[in-house]
Amino acid sequence: MMQHPRIILLGLPGSGKGTQGALIAQTYGVPTFSSGEYFRNLRREGKLPAEVAAKINAGGLVSDEDVNIIVVESFLSTQEAQAGFVLDGYPRTVAQAAFLDEYLTKQNLSLTAAVYVDLQVETAFRRISGRRICPSDGSVYNVYYSQPEREGFCSLCGAPLIQREDDREESVRTRMSTYEAMTKTLTVYYGDQGKLITVDGASAPDVVFARIQKALDDPA
Ligand code: AMP
Repeated sequence: MMQHPRIILLGLPGSGKGTQGALIAQTYGVPTFSSGEYFRNLRREGKLPAEVAAKINAGGLVSDEDVNIIVVESFLSTQEAQAGFVLDGYPRTVAQAAFLDEYLTKQNLSLTAAVYVDLQVETAFRRISGRRICPSDGSVYNVYYSQPEREGFCSLCGAPLIQREDDREESVRTRMSTYEAMTKTLTVYYGDQGKLITVDGASAPDVVFARIQKALDDPA
């Protein structure tokens, strides 16, 4: 089995890349870092600068410079990231991807693979509009696909579930169009490096994961 992989995830919001990231992390024993989750945690702690919050709420992107610094300082440079990792939601632009390559190259490291979970926009849209999260422990549910045991409440801690501010319809539309263009560009970027693994995100999570695992463990 592949040891200490360094993986990034690509895919529309709602493609299931977060779920796949968790499965990769669990199976290969590496930590994950989600830039979006990082911002949500900051917000929960009341530490998210107002101008950043406004951008995120509107479905826009935080600046490359800010995100690059955050990912290095909060994750890549930490002890836990030294034996491999999964990045979810970063890089999102070619500038971020180039920064990450440069950062790893300086340490004689490189990415193992970019996993692209491919899903049609309409399907992703439906998944996102049903998404509900637990504000207390971060668990994710979906009113269509993965309901909590008691409707509207977290199965783990019992807190009332909420819809992410940026999962509301208007900002989802903006995020989708921003993301579609950027994801396409990044699939080309990593395709050129021979590092792209594309899987069909419409299948069940375990089926999608089996394909990722096969591609990682027996590269063609
Ligand atoms: P996500 O949970 O990955 O969908 O991220 C939620 C929001 O956080 C995004 O819509 C962006 O506003 C912001 N964000 C997360 N990661 C990045 C990134 N790599 N670059 C710029 N903005 C980001």
